[in-house]
Amino acid sequence: MVSLLAALFLLALVSALILFALARAQRARTGLPASARIIYADTGAWKKVERPLFSRRYALSGKPDYIVEDGGSVIPVEVKPNRIASAPRESDVMQLAAYGLLIEETLGQGRRAPPYGLLKYRDAVFQIDFTEAVRAQLVDLIDAIRRDATARYVARSHAEPGRCRACGYRDACGQALDDGK
Ligand code: SF4
Repeated sequence: MVSLLAALFLLALVSALILFALARAQRARTGLPASARIIYADTGAWKKVERPLFSRRYALSGKPDYIVEDGGSVIPVEVKPNRIASAPRESDVMQLAAYGLLIEETLGQGRRAPPYGLLKYRDAVFQIDFTEAVRAQLVDLIDAIRRDATARYVARSHAEPGRCRACGYRDACGQALDDGK
């Protein structure tokens, strides 16, 4: 009897380890960053944001698509209805984090700063935790944009070739991708 119980325990332990390994492998395949996870969201609780939010301190303005209340915090929600991806894009994470900062600066008086935001793509809703690392990346990005705004020369980014080929500034740019530069 004892050896049967031991065998069952061992079987349960091995099954749990296999499930754990499969979950880790799946997570690695989807490429989700540590601050992001896929969740089920009650979209009926989302409220439209009518006016842009403005932060004088960060010289930042913008409007999340929706906000939702959660545990005394106001959570920003950004919807990209045509985007299909298994992991959130870094630029979308930064946009969402900027909305988090704007909410903290404007709507957040007397409340906790938003601990996370929601990013809805066509087939999934990602919860993005506003970790110290995400916040530091956002503040660095805001600083870089501010520096570039007054710089005499800023090298173009060609990270998104499709966007470059459809860009309305191609004629004046001089660094458009098809120019071979
Ligand atoms: S055409 Fe110039 S400004 Fe437009 S995306 Fe390409 S590099 Fe950027």
